[in-house]
Amino acid sequence: MGRRHKLAIEHFKKIAESEQRGWPDHQWHGDIKNCDVCSRPMEDEQFMIDGPAEARPRPMWGNICVICAHKYSPQIGWGKAQLYEKDSDGTWRLVAGGPPE
Ligand SMILES: [Zn+2]
Repeated sequence: MGRRHKLAIEHFKKIAESEQRGWPDHQWHGDIKNCDVCSRPMEDEQFMIDGPAEARPRPMWGNICVICAHKYSPQIGWGKAQLYEKDSDGTWRLVAGGPPE
């Protein structure tokens, strides 16, 4: 694993740990095979970000890996981007940036 990948994981791990709220019933429905930006296989990734996938006004959104998200959507929050973490059975669970009550 490269240095950029490690830094990106650390960045999103901190966000996940500092998130005060939980969304136990929120998970991503549907298969995510590859990052929408760089095509990295997502099966070995710990985190997935649903957020802006390019650096321009009104960007496309995508399901992207930590490296691409570190570049295009480092901030997690409702309306900005959502952070998902894979649990032991391979389900992507929402861990930060979910909907307010
Ligand atoms: Zn990527």
